[in-house]
Amino acid sequence: MILSIEENICDIKKQLPKDVTLIAVSKTRTVEEIQEVYDQGVRDFGENKVQELTDKIDRFDSSVRWHLIGHLQTNKVKYIVGKVHLIHSVDSIKLLKEIEKRYGADNLTANILIQINIGREESKTGIFKEDLPEILEACEICNNIKVKGLMSVIPKGSEEDCKKYFREMQNIWHSIKEKSYKNISMDYLSMGMTHDYKFALEEGSNMIRVGEGIFGKRNYNK
Ligand SMILES: *Cc1c(COP(=O)(O)O)cnc(C)c1O
Repeated sequence: MILSIEENICDIKKQLPKDVTLIAVSKTRTVEEIQEVYDQGVRDFGENKVQELTDKIDRFDSSVRWHLIGHLQTNKVKYIVGKVHLIHSVDSIKLLKEIEKRYGADNLTANILIQINIGREESKTGIFKEDLPEILEACEICNNIKVKGLMSVIPKGSEEDCKKYFREMQNIWHSIKEKSYKNISMDYLSMGMTHDYKFALEEGSNMIRVGEGIFGKRNYNK
């Protein structure tokens, strides 16, 4: 049975504790489709490509919070300065420094998450967990960056495997939260997508990123 966008959102929202943010992942979707979701009261949207993101930003009012959830190339940082609510995908010190430089030039602050490749998959971006201390140290000396938490895309797998990875992320998140770093607050744990957000919620996620579960199947050839 295929449900409407309205029914999908309703169904997801019913399962969400109050402090959990639902991000509608709108990559590949048209402005009209996004408008349908917007009309249901959703204001957080996630995009994975800079060009597509900046095109869409101009089509909506400033109540929308845009999340960059895909890999960000250093040479594209300049296009998103001041435009996004949260960058989920910071995965290198080189990228961090470029964000610091570009936001600094405009006297703005970037809110970011550090992306962790918790399943150590070659096909995925994100840092390995052992590289966290080094990047956090680099964050502490920034003037125009605030780290708001962690993000991960876990490997596809069984319920047990999903929960294992999500739990590991939650443990890392908590261990940083307990310490006091400059510029770093663990407000958000961004994990869980259409097929695994239920497990992510059980393991402490407070920001889920759902695409197909809201909009229906994605067609990349459109
Ligand atoms: C596409 C994407 C999602 C959403 O995936 P669905 O399976 O459609 O829910 C979430 N996070 C990231 C980083 C993505 O690229």
